[in-house]
Amino acid sequence: MPETRVVIVGAGVIGLTTAVVLSQNKNLSITVVAKHMPGDYDIEYASPWAGANFLPVGKPGSLLQKFERDTWPQLAKIVEDHPEAGAHFQETFVYGRKKDEGTATGEWFRELVKEDAWFRDLMPKFRTLPPTSLPPSCTTGTSFTSVCLNTALYLPWLASQALSSGVILKRSILPHITAARHQHHTSAPAHIILNCTGLASATLPGVMDSTVYPARGQIVLVRNSPGAMYTTSGTDDGEDEAVYVMERAAGGGTVIGGCLQHGESESGVDPNLANRIMQRAVELCPQLVPKTGKVTELSVVRHGVGLRPMRKEGIRVEKEKVNGVWVVHQYGHAGYGYQSSWGSAWEAERLVEEILREEGAKAKL
Ligand code: FAD
Repeated sequence: MPETRVVIVGAGVIGLTTAVVLSQNKNLSITVVAKHMPGDYDIEYASPWAGANFLPVGKPGSLLQKFERDTWPQLAKIVEDHPEAGAHFQETFVYGRKKDEGTATGEWFRELVKEDAWFRDLMPKFRTLPPTSLPPSCTTGTSFTSVCLNTALYLPWLASQALSSGVILKRSILPHITAARHQHHTSAPAHIILNCTGLASATLPGVMDSTVYPARGQIVLVRNSPGAMYTTSGTDDGEDEAVYVMERAAGGGTVIGGCLQHGESESGVDPNLANRIMQRAVELCPQLVPKTGKVTELSVVRHGVGLRPMRKEGIRVEKEKVNGVWVVHQYGHAGYGYQSSWGSAWEAERLVEEILREEGAKAKL
């Protein structure tokens, strides 16, 4: 079978995971082209800002649920087999408050906080917590083993996995999704384009998906260690504010957050929100500040803001011919790009194989 030239647009967690998956097929010659690469911190590049942990939020029967179910075993395998990837297992505590039902944060975590959650058979050591052990005003509680990825190590690790399988990475800003056709490293035209541009899918000519929009997330990265991961379904400070604490693997520090501000794209840090984030984290997890119990004991590495690539109907993984070129879209991973990444990339791979079968059949006619 002749070599098929593929260009993946985007080097976030979605583009890079897809590069690793597709590179296992030796008949594909792959270039990743992107405006931002691992190592960059930019408001247009969501992936470095993520925690990133695995807290399932997909509704039963949804594509997201399928992707989360498929992704978990792969992330667990990465923790076990690849210490250099910057991923580790963490004991996890999830608390739900009845009063958060219907709020922005409450909706986001609706499936996560259920004591009879669909993932109770997926996640190791899943158990419901006795009411006496719950923080004040919480009505449900579960604990299980999950993972937390150090994005500063994990994204370069994905890139190096792709590179060692022959993928070429290069920088470019594309004016139209089909401009990727002329970005393959051989200079010959690409047969298939993968659109992994995240939030840019709202504005990139040839895609222009008007249902894609940002949801702002603000975080603080600290040196303090919480010992486990903690999340609640909401806060008393605002319906789109959240409290979560997760320690990244391999010295990556602890990410505390956060918020889910639908439609907001302000890149500057809101100092008042930062104070509320730190105060809430210390209240939920006093072991972060064992000496004084106070926010001043937090040792701040940096404050950060990232934009989650939301899509009204959820993640899009579809194939489409744009100006006569096959494009496999893969965007809209919102606040769950890492925890759905492998399942999503395998679905994109299935579509690439479908295109190859269709085109192969046509060639025989
Ligand atoms: P991006 O990372 O934004 O990458 C897009 C890529 O496309 C970039 O390389 C960009 O340069 C490129 N690009 C765009 N336009 C062009 C163009 N015209 N030409 C060339 N290149 C282009 N998810 C989890 O699973 N777990 C978590 O704990 C978690 N926590 C989060 C916390 C915060 C604060 C935020 C903001 C997000 C969090 N997420 C989490 C969500 C996760 O970060 C995103 O879903 C994920 O990063 C999206 O990845 P992506 O590859 O689609 O997009």
